[in-house]
Amino acid sequence: MADKIKVTVWNEFRHEKKNEKIAKLYPEGMHGAIAEYLRKTGDFDVRTATLDEPQHGLTDEVLNDTDVLTWWGHTAHKEVKDEIVEKVKRRVWDGMGLIVLHSGHYSKIFKALMGTECGLRWREIGEKERIFVVEPGHPIAEGLGDYFELEHTEMYGERFEIPAPDELVFISWFAGGDVFRSGCCWYRGRGRVFYFRPGHETYPIYHDQNVLRVIANGCRWATLPRGVRPATGHAPKPFENVTPYDG
Ligand code: ZN
Repeated sequence: MADKIKVTVWNEFRHEKKNEKIAKLYPEGMHGAIAEYLRKTGDFDVRTATLDEPQHGLTDEVLNDTDVLTWWGHTAHKEVKDEIVEKVKRRVWDGMGLIVLHSGHYSKIFKALMGTECGLRWREIGEKERIFVVEPGHPIAEGLGDYFELEHTEMYGERFEIPAPDELVFISWFAGGDVFRSGCCWYRGRGRVFYFRPGHETYPIYHDQNVLRVIANGCRWATLPRGVRPATGHAPKPFENVTPYDG
């Protein structure tokens, strides 16, 4: 049997401590709900890490032993240390997968990897979301139908200030009329990045089986091979015999 994929589920883990309603929805934190599902699939070795742990739970040892990192943050993006963001970015360039969830669109790590502001429009009135699969052959859409729905969600609408995704898997429609690119893939160095929209903390989004399936699919996709590290830097020896031009 193939080795299990090593996933680190990272969460800011503040809302769950401060808000009773959210704590009830996620007694083990949103990271706990996501980790529990991933473990049940049998495909993953799962650990969790949170903001208030030393080094946000992302020590060199943890990062070097992580194939895929999932990221949920919202109110405390600024508290994430720049040196940790830099380390995560370098791990992505070196081949680690990164799954950015919901309000993680404004995280330092996502903005660093996108190179853009990553803003969007939002509204919180608990409207319905219909998530269309626009790339049905994509590994991240495995096991889904043409679409799935969330009865009550926070709305995210275009424009989403991101570079054009390398692959677009999902587009969302909202009852209020907005649309959003809700499942986007990018290649960064040897690493893969997947942004997945659903996940507002006051709704049971991370108990939804379709949402959890997409996160698991994303973790599998993010570890597909991306080849060897390419040679870069000074190349004094040409492939062919070339007489140096001397003016
Ligand atoms: Zn939200």
